[in-house]
Amino acid sequence: MAAKQIPVFDYMICVACGLCDQACPVSCLELSKCDVDAYKKAYPVLAAEQRCIGCAICEKACPVEAIQMADRVA
Ligand code: SF4
Ligand code: SF4
Repeated sequence: MAAKQIPVFDYMICVACGLCDQACPVSCLELSKCDVDAYKKAYPVLAAEQRCIGCAICEKACPVEAIQMADRVA
């Protein structure tokens, strides 16, 4: 069953550390270049939304609170 909530990233806060990607137990995040800030390299994206179990481990792993769990839009 699909997760009720999924992570949403605030790329103005994100420091592209990759900790959320490492913490995800089902490897559904992916670091990819979003070109939001030329100084930062790779930002996380929810690449495999269907695999996300909504556990919020990524949210807790983020050192700068750049992730918030939000209701999935159907
Ligand atoms: S909520 Fe859990 S499963 Fe979904 S991206 Fe975050 S760590 Fe991964
Ligand atoms: S843990 Fe937070 S700061 Fe680090 S890449 Fe993920 S969202 Fe960005």
